[in-house]
Amino acid sequence: MNKPLRLLASLALAGSALAAHAAATITVINGDPPNVGFNDPTAVAPVGGNSGTTLGQQRLNVYQAVAAKWGTELNSTVPILVYATWEALTCDESSAVLGSAGAVFVNANFPNAPFTDTWYNSALANKLAGSDLSEGDPTSTDPAVIVGADIRARFNANLGNATCLPGAPFYLGLDNAHGNLVDFYSVLLHELGHGLGFQVLTNSQTGKRIGNPALPSMWERFMLDTDTNTTWFAMTDRQRKKSAVNFQGLVWTGASVTAGAPLVLSAGKAEAILNTARNPKTFNVGTAEFGPALTPAGITDFPATIVTQAGELGPGCSPYDAGNAAAVNGQIAVVDRGGCAFVIKTKNAQNAGAVAVVIVNNVAGGPISPAGSDPTIVIPTVGVSMDDGTAIKNSIKPRRSASLTLHLNTTLLAGADASDRVFLYTPNPLEGGSSVSHWDTSATRNLLMEPFINDDLNHEVKVPSDLTLQLFIDIGW
Ligand SMILES: [Zn+2]
Repeated sequence: MNKPLRLLASLALAGSALAAHAAATITVINGDPPNVGFNDPTAVAPVGGNSGTTLGQQRLNVYQAVAAKWGTELNSTVPILVYATWEALTCDESSAVLGSAGAVFVNANFPNAPFTDTWYNSALANKLAGSDLSEGDPTSTDPAVIVGADIRARFNANLGNATCLPGAPFYLGLDNAHGNLVDFYSVLLHELGHGLGFQVLTNSQTGKRIGNPALPSMWERFMLDTDTNTTWFAMTDRQRKKSAVNFQGLVWTGASVTAGAPLVLSAGKAEAILNTARNPKTFNVGTAEFGPALTPAGITDFPATIVTQAGELGPGCSPYDAGNAAAVNGQIAVVDRGGCAFVIKTKNAQNAGAVAVVIVNNVAGGPISPAGSDPTIVIPTVGVSMDDGTAIKNSIKPRRSASLTLHLNTTLLAGADASDRVFLYTPNPLEGGSSVSHWDTSATRNLLMEPFINDDLNHEVKVPSDLTLQLFIDIGW
């Protein structure tokens, strides 16, 4: 049996049908000093089914509720230990690190391991082996290692204070009535999900495997690059590094997730079609957070480019002059990324009469999914890659241009490929800490293990609400 490998902090990337009596015990270890975090004595009013009367007690109550939730969904005879603290994580008045969690130990070549020479996070390895493979190491300086914790979790103790996203603390109710606040129950359900096995382990920035000897992780056999039709298990480091930024080109092939996908995801993959006479081309698009969603019928019109105006911050960042307004009126405005917010670009195009906007990436790689908020925007916006944007621009001629269709392809699920295999999150360029160990943001309905906590999550982890448990079943839970 290989010795358990202790995951270094830099490698903690985030951060079978279940029996009728599925159960696991998840124990939360309070690692906070007096008066901090779980021990914070600040008086608070009970909220949303959380009866705690101190901030610390309310935090602990959410932990207990989420630990109990995962405990009812998973099955293990070995208690799962979560070492948890609240700390002063990076934040300022406009942004904050909420927290993170990941496995502390990984194990390989233990009794009943589904695959030899393959790393498993310790909570899953213990379940499969039926014994605790990662007992504490009293010689360590890391308290989570000393106690043999399976999962290390830390959250931002200052969230909502005057210097850390003021006015936006975690919602500590248990009833999901979070309003505009961040629902801590959902965040914790997500973060413990990473620690329980929703974590690739292999380094997605370098493609390198962890450990000495370096071994594949339990995820790799289920990760298929659809461009090369090769799994991460069969790739070189260099190939994995490339695959990690293959936008909507890396899918999960596990049978449980694939069978569950049509029960959770809705039909309708967003795409753009350039209707050239001889050879129509279909492009992947990123959909915008603002404006109306695309529809199956969609919008078909001619694409039109604009000219960057004198003195503006970037293309389409200022109200259009007469020439640009005439170009896009009644057409789909094709605007390069850069210089100002996406909502400003779309609003200026809308004011000039455009029927939709295509934002062309200004760096190599995949399309962007334009972020932002502006309730006055009434036309749809999508992002395309630089290469696809160039193809669209090159189709524009003084006469007989090809039309462009922006729509939902209802023969495909939102968030999966044509074989219902769900996309992993592979933006280009890579997003350290987020890439690969999440589902792609195109998934609709929204999934718990997307890289952002969406407002419409419902505290469930399996079909028909979610696919996290289905992935866990695929890897051996
Ligand atoms: Zn995450």
